[in-house]
Amino acid sequence: MKKSVVIILIAVILAGCAAFFAFNGNTETTSELFAMDTYVKIKVTGKASDETVKAITDEINYLDSDVLSRKEKSSVIYSLNSNHGGKLSDELLSYLNTLIDVSKKSGGRFDFTLGALSDLWNFKSENPKIPDDEEIKALLSATGYEKINIKDGAVSFPDGVCIDFGAAGKGIALDEIKKIIDSSKTKEAIIAVGGSVLLYGDRSFSVGISSPEGSGNIAELKLPAGCVSTSGNYERYFEIDGVRYHHILDPKTGYPADSGVKSVTIVSDSGILSDALSTACFVLDVEEGKRLAEEYGCEAVFVTDDNKVIVTEGLKDSITVIDDGYTLSTL
Ligand code: AMP
Ligand code: MG
Repeated sequence: MKKSVVIILIAVILAGCAAFFAFNGNTETTSELFAMDTYVKIKVTGKASDETVKAITDEINYLDSDVLSRKEKSSVIYSLNSNHGGKLSDELLSYLNTLIDVSKKSGGRFDFTLGALSDLWNFKSENPKIPDDEEIKALLSATGYEKINIKDGAVSFPDGVCIDFGAAGKGIALDEIKKIIDSSKTKEAIIAVGGSVLLYGDRSFSVGISSPEGSGNIAELKLPAGCVSTSGNYERYFEIDGVRYHHILDPKTGYPADSGVKSVTIVSDSGILSDALSTACFVLDVEEGKRLAEEYGCEAVFVTDDNKVIVTEGLKDSITVIDDGYTLSTL
């Protein structure tokens, strides 16, 4: 082939590629960060995916340090706890009301006011210890979601109550990220804030149910776009004399919940509901948890202490158990 023909051919191919990308214009951007006390993974495909990932990252960091963190002095929740109340934005008030509703409907087994009790247990300590029973009981009686008053957009509560959005903040982040993605030119996205995941796009997604014993998955879900959150007894815990003390507390006792499950996964259109309900259903038993999930129109997967994977009706055709040590049943 003549040199000039080759050059023309290459030029035509390059022009074709350029035209294709100009027409398609989708790029994929991935990123990872540590925020909200957990690992965050972001993957966005679409036009201007770099900018969208930057906006998502900024939003997560903002929500963590300026709004939801219980430990950061700059946050709204920190100020609320320091002043036993304060005025809230409409948005935060609406999230708070959702958590009050979940607390009520769970019969108080979900309770977002247990911050002081979680501090007493101190699950992150290098030298963990089981707290004194009297201290547990004293802290329990001083707290409770029903002690929260809301009037004209202002919240107030007595000393002893310590608001903790740890069970729902990851889901709130997903709801806020969804708003950002909706107003961008994103085609598909997967955002995992710890165990809470936003699936975005017009296709189905494969989501693993983690093994409570260690690495890998025990089951896989095929899901459309939406939110999915898992709470498990393997996420944060310490062990003393062979007993595992994990971070999800039963407000009835003040001790780690012991309702016969190792993990609960909730599927919902709402991030806050998927996150709050996975924690709530972990404290309740399978039957009560199923009822609560149904009340909110959500689907659930319970992994029980006796190695059953129990799913609500709506998920029975979407799940595959891939670990021989577990058996599938429908509620
Ligand atoms: P998650 O990982 O979403 O299940 O949330 C667990 C976190 O929620 C804990 O680390 C505590 O901050 C908080 N928490 C613990 N027990 C409860 C409970 N019974 N109700 C609401 N929040 C809780
Ligand atoms: Mg949760």
